[in-house]
Amino acid sequence: MRTWIESWPVYRQLTGGDPLGRGTASRSSETERWRARTRNADGVTKSVCPFCAVGCGQNVYTEGGRVTQIEGDPDSPISRGRLCPKGSSSLSLVTSPSRVTTVRYRRPHGTEWEDLDLDTAVDMIVDRVLETRRKTWQDTDPDGRHLRRTMGIASLGGATLDNEENYLMKKLYTALGAIQVENQARI
Ligand code: SF4
Repeated sequence: MRTWIESWPVYRQLTGGDPLGRGTASRSSETERWRARTRNADGVTKSVCPFCAVGCGQNVYTEGGRVTQIEGDPDSPISRGRLCPKGSSSLSLVTSPSRVTTVRYRRPHGTEWEDLDLDTAVDMIVDRVLETRRKTWQDTDPDGRHLRRTMGIASLGGATLDNEENYLMKKLYTALGAIQVENQARI
């Protein structure tokens, strides 16, 4: 049983073997009761925080196939185990009850959001892209020089896109003849 003075962390820091106050001096009866949130995890997968272009490393802990905790990856040479508040809360990206898991669509002049099935949404996007490309295609300039482009389609990517996604997007837009391809992370 600690005396009242021994329960004072500064006293233990000054008199014990923990002068920096990072170990036993900073522990209390409350912290002794704490248990790691990952203690029941049966799997851990290396991943990258999807929130911004820094790309901090994450360890994604799972239990029975479900994500139960996401923490900084100490093995990451970029972040060395650290996550900012956004990255630290990315578990809720997966588990939040307010997470949107269906395609949401608000049609022109509509006042309400509707649910669309994914195939319908993709078909609608394809129709719009093809129609826009056809209507805005520029084969040559006024002097007859080849352009072979459309200025009617542009892409502004988000910082949560990873290298591979950006690579595929650039290939797709270049194949479509779109030349305005940018990413928010560069702005
Ligand atoms: S943890 Fe923060 S700084 Fe790191 S990638 Fe995620 S959002 Fe960016």
